Amino acid sequence: MPCIAEVAVERRKALRFDYSIPEEWREAAQVGVRVAIPLQGKTAKGVIVALKESSQFENLLPITELLSPTSELSAAQWRLAGWMARYYATPLELVLRLFIPAPIRQDVKSRKGKEETLLLEADFFQSLPKTLNPEQKACLDHIKASLQSEKFKVHLIHGITGSGKTEIYLQAIEEARRLGKAALFLVPEISLTSQTLERIRARFQEPVALLHHRRSLGERNAAWRKLASGEISIAIGARSALFAPIPRLGVIILDEEHDSSYKQSEEAPCYHARSVAIMRAHMESATVLLGSATPSLESRYNAEIGKYQLHSLTRRASSATLPTIQIVDMKAAHLRNGGFTHFSDHLLKAIESRIKKGEQTLLFLNRRGHHRLGLCRECQTAIQCPHCDLSLTFHKGEEQLRCHLCGFERSANEYCPSCGSRGTIQCKGFGTEHVERSLHAVFPEVRTLRMDRDTTRKKESHEELFQQFRAHKADVLIGTQMIAKGFHFPSVTLVGILHADASLQIPDFRSSEFLFQLLIQVSGRAGRADLPGEVILQTFLPEHPVILLGKNQDYDAFYTREMEERKLFGYPPFTHLIKCLFSSKKSEKALEAAEWTWRKIQELSTPALQILPVGPSGHPKIKDLFRFQFLIKAKERKECERVSLFLSSLSFPDAYIKVDVDPSSLW
Ligand code: ADP
Ligand code: ZN
Ligand code: ZN
Repeated sequence: MPCIAEVAVERRKALRFDYSIPEEWREAAQVGVRVAIPLQGKTAKGVIVALKESSQFENLLPITELLSPTSELSAAQWRLAGWMARYYATPLELVLRLFIPAPIRQDVKSRKGKEETLLLEADFFQSLPKTLNPEQKACLDHIKASLQSEKFKVHLIHGITGSGKTEIYLQAIEEARRLGKAALFLVPEISLTSQTLERIRARFQEPVALLHHRRSLGERNAAWRKLASGEISIAIGARSALFAPIPRLGVIILDEEHDSSYKQSEEAPCYHARSVAIMRAHMESATVLLGSATPSLESRYNAEIGKYQLHSLTRRASSATLPTIQIVDMKAAHLRNGGFTHFSDHLLKAIESRIKKGEQTLLFLNRRGHHRLGLCRECQTAIQCPHCDLSLTFHKGEEQLRCHLCGFERSANEYCPSCGSRGTIQCKGFGTEHVERSLHAVFPEVRTLRMDRDTTRKKESHEELFQQFRAHKADVLIGTQMIAKGFHFPSVTLVGILHADASLQIPDFRSSEFLFQLLIQVSGRAGRADLPGEVILQTFLPEHPVILLGKNQDYDAFYTREMEERKLFGYPPFTHLIKCLFSSKKSEKALEAAEWTWRKIQELSTPALQILPVGPSGHPKIKDLFRFQFLIKAKERKECERVSLFLSSLSFPDAYIKVDVDPSSLW
C-alpha cells in the first residue's frame, strides 16, 4: 500500500511536496483528499495529487490531518484537471485551485456583502416552448439526436441576433432533462445576462443554480453540493461554472461563443472556456452548443473542416427585420465643423427625430485603443502612471486621473510631474462622459444615461441602468462594449456607432475580428420589436473592408477575407500560439528569464516550431513589473507537447513566468 502522498499546497504559487501517510490513514488518504500538512514550521492545507511507494527525499514529515472524508474531485473533474494542466502548460496545483478553491482566499471579504439568493426558483407562471420555425426545428432535431445518442458532439449555431438561438437552447435543456441529464449554460458575463436568466427561470419548473465569482465560498460550495448530489440539474454561470461537479451532464451551452470574456488571460491556467467545455463534453460524452451571430474564426473553421456541425439561422424569429446601416464619413463632418466633433449632422437629426417621436437611441462608443488623457497645457506632456507604462485616463466628474491597468489615482489639480506647473492638466481625447456633455450642449433637454466602467462599479448597477432605460427614464443610452451585449430594448430604433474604427489602431491579429463582431452585435440592438431600426456608423475609414463588410452584415465574406490574411501571416486557426510572458521588478531579470527560456526551448524543439524573438510586451510595464515576452508558433498542436511540459516546470527566483496557450491577443 502506498505510504507517501504528493501534496499540492494551497498557495498562490505552485508548490508540491512529499509527505508520509500515517499508518491509520493509509486507506482513507486517496488522491483528491484535502489534508493538513506541516510546512516551514506552520500548518498548511493542500490536496493529495498522487500516491507512491517511495520518494527521492528522506525524513518526510507526516500528514497531520485528513480534512475531507473522500476525494474533493469526481473522477471526471480529475481527468479534466489533468488535461488542463498538460494543455495549458500549468502545474496541476494551480489548475486544482479552480476545482477546489482554498477557503482562506477572499472568503472574508465576500461574506460581508448581503447574501444573494442561491437559486433561481421556478416561476409561478411557466412560459411554454415556442413552435419552432423550420430552420430552428432542423437545428433542434440534430441536437436532440446527439443528446439521445449519448455521443460527444459539437453544434455551432450561427444565427443572426433575434433568430431564436436562446429558444433552441431552452428546448435543448428541456430534452436533456427529459432524458434525465443535467445541463450547464455558460454566459460571458453574468451581470449582463438577467434577461436570459429570466427566460430560464420562467421556462423550467425546477430550481436552477446560479454560479458566479461574486458568490462567497460558502454559497458556492452549497450550490456545488446540490449539483453534485443531483438535487439540482440545471446550472448557469460564467466561465468558472465549468468546474462544477455535475454528474450525468448532457449538454453544455456557450452563448455568444465568440466573446472574449470566455478567455482567462490574467493568471494561470490561462484557459479558454470553449476549449475546456469541449474537452469536458468529450470526456463525459455530452453535447456542446456554441451559439453566436458572429462565430469566432476558430469555431467557424472547425465547422468547415467537419469537427463541428454548423446550423445557420438566417431569419429573425419574431417579425422584426434587420436594421439598415449607413456609413457616415467623419472626415467630411470634421471639415464642416471646423474641428473635432462626436456627431455628424446626420446622426444629430436622427437623434432629434427619435426624441420627438418618443423612441430611444443607443450611442455606442468604441473606446478600445482610445484614451482620454490628462495633458499638461504648459509642457504638452501626457501624465503617465508611475507604476505602469501607460498614460493616465482623465475622469472629469471627479477631476481624477486614473490608471486603467493598476487602478492608481491622483488628482488632476496637482502639479504636472513633468514641468511642475500647477492647474495646467486638462482632458484631451474623449470618452462616454465627453459624449454625454457634447450631446447636452446640442440638446439641452435630452435625458441621458451613461454605462461604462465608471458608472457600473457597483454590483447591481448594470441591472439598474438597464431597467431605468427600459422604463424610458432616458432618451439616449451612451455606453461602451457593455451595451453591445445580449440586451434588447423594444423602443430603441436608432443606434449610433461613434469612432467605429478606433480598435483598428491596435496592432493585433484579432483587431479586425473584434471590430466586425462589435459592429454586428451593436447593430443587433436596433429595432427588435415592431419598430424598424436604423444604424448610423461614423468612421474615418469609410472604405475600410471590415467597415464595409460590417455594414453589409456579411459574415461569410468577412470570414473568407480574414481567413486569407490569417493564413498568409500564419495566425490561428492555421497555427497554434503560445505566449510566454516574463515579468519582474527589475527589467534585466525579466529579460534574462525570457532569454534563458527562449534558448532552452530552441534546444528542445523541433524545426516545426517557430520561436519568435524576445521583446518587450504590448504593455511593457504594469504595476511596477517590467514585462518581456516571446511567442511560439506551431503548425500542429501535438508539436507543443514537449515544450508545454518544460514550460510548466519553470520557476525563477526573481521573475514570474506566465504561459498563455491560445492567447486572445499578442499584447
Ligand atoms: P437570439 O437568442 O438568437 O437572439 P431569441 O431566442 O432571443 O433569439 O429570440 C428572439 C425573440 O423571438 C424572442 O422574443 C423569442 O421569444 C422569439 N422567438 C424565438 N423563437 C420563436 C419562434 N419559433 N416563434 C415565435 N417567436 C420566437
Ligand atoms: Zn498603473
Ligand atoms: Zn507640464
